[in-house]
Amino acid sequence: MREFEYVRADEIGQAVATVTADPAASYLAGGTTQLDLMKDGVLGPERLVDITRLPMRGVAREGGTLRVGALTTMEELAADPTVAGRLPLVRQALLLGASVQLRNMATIGGNLLQRTRCRYFRDPTVPACNKRSPGTGCAAVTGAARMHAVLGAGRACIALHASDLAVALVALDAVVHVQSRDGTRSIPLTGFYLLPGDTPDRENVLAHGELITAVDIPLPPEGTRSGYLKVRDRASYEFALASAAVALILDDGVIREARVALGGVGTVPWRAREAEDVLRGAPAAAPAFLAAAEASVRDPFTVPGTAFKVELAKRTLVRALRTVAEAS
Ligand code: FAD
Ligand code: SF4
Repeated sequence: MREFEYVRADEIGQAVATVTADPAASYLAGGTTQLDLMKDGVLGPERLVDITRLPMRGVAREGGTLRVGALTTMEELAADPTVAGRLPLVRQALLLGASVQLRNMATIGGNLLQRTRCRYFRDPTVPACNKRSPGTGCAAVTGAARMHAVLGAGRACIALHASDLAVALVALDAVVHVQSRDGTRSIPLTGFYLLPGDTPDRENVLAHGELITAVDIPLPPEGTRSGYLKVRDRASYEFALASAAVALILDDGVIREARVALGGVGTVPWRAREAEDVLRGAPAAAPAFLAAAEASVRDPFTVPGTAFKVELAKRTLVRALRTVAEAS
């Protein structure tokens, strides 16, 4: 690993000022992504600003919103009583991710900013990776692709967004709170991530030095049923091949409100609004679920290794909808 300076921040303003002033500085939270990538030689910050002592940890209910501090760990958020009672899709997305050891270190802010698991991105000996080295091409498009995206993808990059939590949070219209040297701003998570286009190195709307301080999760109305289904190569400790976050309000067997997002298939956590439009007002039964699944995976970009994901994503969504609709 390249040598770097370690700085422990005591207050938010100091952390933001330090990173903003230095293009070679990065934040360090739980370190489960950041340190891996440094050891692999993918990232080489000259200064790491440890934010773990900052007052950004904990979960608080404020009316109809759950405010989650960015340093809250995945395990802490999953154990929160409001999450357990009102947000099953969030709890399931958290507990189906990583391992308990990782979830005890990994923070919510870091989870939203985790980098792709594309093997070519994570191997600096591979020259062609537009995300790591803009303008060099994409080794995955002609190489071994499986844990890659089919939605929002293109020839420049097919890297998957790997966060499970982000999929549940885009379905719920969560909002990210950010601190910069100039003040604060709030960003809807649905507008936080950027499609790769011709600039896959730009993954989100944050400017260098902006710090995520909290995430607001609007609580769905009482009586909402929800769930997160994750399909993967092995039963635990594995990223999704396809996943679906679903929230439904049923009225006498008819779907009054629907929220749907897909994971494991998108370059960003994929909100499937077309599927929601199909579901709203329809009887909660197979024909609507199948039509929603068809609508959710429009215009995929596939390579031989990822073509199977189109059908897998549809089946995953149908199963998730059925499971949530049938839950008592
Ligand atoms: P760090 O590694 O400290 O930081 C990650 C990035 O975010 C860095 O660039 C850092 O500078 C930046 N950052 C961190 N906090 C902030 C902040 N508040 N504001 C601005 N920037 C910030 N995730 C899943 O969703 N599902 C899985 O199945 C899953 N499996 C995993 C398996 C393994 C083996 C590993 C290593 C990880 C897995 N993960 C999975 C990813 C894991 O959830 C993330 O690594 C973790 O959430 C990152 O949080 P962290 O606090 O460790 O972030
Ligand atoms: Fe790089 Fe994206 Fe291609 Fe992977 S898919 S090699 S991250 S450009």
